[in-house]
Amino acid sequence: MHAPRGCYARYHIVKDNNKEMDQQITEEIKNILGILRVRENESLSKHTYFKIGGPARLLFEAKSIEDLKLALKTVLEYQVPFVVLGGGANVLVSDKGFDGLVVKNRAAQVKLVGIKGTINKNGQGIKSALVWTASGTPMNQLARFTIDQGLEGLEFLLSVPGTVGGGLKINAHFEVERAEFLGNRLVSATLFDPKNGQKKNVAQDYFKFSYDHSTIQDTDEIVLDATFRLDAAQDKAVLWQKAMEGVKRRNAEQPIGIACSGCTFRNINHKDAIRLSTPNLTTSTGYIIESLGLKGTKIGGAQVSEHHANFIINTAEAKAADVIKLINLIKVKAKQTYGLDLKEEIFYIGDFD
Ligand SMILES: Cc1cc2nc3c(=O)[nH]c(=O)nc-3n(C[C@H](O)[C@H](O)[C@H](O)COP(=O)(O)OP(=O)(O)OC[C@H]3O[C@@H](n4cnc5c(N)ncnc54)[C@H](O)[C@@H]3O)c2cc1C
Repeated sequence: MHAPRGCYARYHIVKDNNKEMDQQITEEIKNILGILRVRENESLSKHTYFKIGGPARLLFEAKSIEDLKLALKTVLEYQVPFVVLGGGANVLVSDKGFDGLVVKNRAAQVKLVGIKGTINKNGQGIKSALVWTASGTPMNQLARFTIDQGLEGLEFLLSVPGTVGGGLKINAHFEVERAEFLGNRLVSATLFDPKNGQKKNVAQDYFKFSYDHSTIQDTDEIVLDATFRLDAAQDKAVLWQKAMEGVKRRNAEQPIGIACSGCTFRNINHKDAIRLSTPNLTTSTGYIIESLGLKGTKIGGAQVSEHHANFIINTAEAKAADVIKLINLIKVKAKQTYGLDLKEEIFYIGDFD
């Protein structure tokens, strides 16, 4: 399997003894995970926000952490290629699909597991609280839960697509300058290492979070669950208002109701913004793409959004190959014109030869 040249691409592949998925292995995996719960040749376009992607040899929906662990142990035992898909909001899947097991993580659960402070007779007095989530919990659900509990710190995730697991891998964020990162609130997480099948509980510092980065992008470990610490808010109504303002801003700035995978590229770094004297030293890659005159550029069914140039949209029946061509065009122009090496925010799944 190969990533597009020069792309920042990652796959979840069991590293050694990577076996072909022959029919016998396929049947054995289906028997272990449940014949009626495993779909063969399922189109991945149905499972991604881009609405792009060929078939998965096998697709299994994990509805609990136990399901997720069983699927991961099974791929380890059979040494077959696998990928964990969360919401499918930050991936581009190859037109050839994925020749292995796709585990769609729908293990969604969120609960309060601890509080700091003393509750008085008015139900007040809590200082902070710990919130536990299964990794397939939609970030939007986590945001709603925490706001409802009067807890502050993750309200910026309201309406952000994707799951907690996918969010921790990219360190999901909204206003970077206000330090609105998912990872900032993490206390600990349980990870599964697909190289040896070991589970471990790690603290926040293990992830080495920064903008669009966490350690699990390098280790390919899978998040099973995560615990966050949040502060008690003065006023729940103010929290809702703040969250809704974020939703309004996103709706105004991003293309809405159109198939896409969010921002395609990571923002440029501050040093490059100074070197290029961008307006107000913006690090926005959307600005860079727009200034290259590429807004609206179309290849096949894929187009650089007229609304936000860092979004590539699927206007109709786009192929992954169209998106790749557009990505490469943007990268080449950014390099030639500004000397920039743009890096993708999206992750690639499958074979892009
Ligand atoms: C319209 C739109 C708007 C968006 N706006 C924002 C925004 O404001 N802020 C923002 O940060 N992002 C935004 N995004 C991007 C997206 O919401 C985030 O990147 C999100 O974290 C993706 O989560 P996911 O579960 O969908 O991941 P997926 O797309 O399913 O997967 C992404 C990567 O994470 C891996 N992965 C998934 N689950 C796990 C797990 N449990 N353990 C380990 N690895 C895992 C996958 O294998 C893949 O490599 C937007 C996307 C869209 C489509």
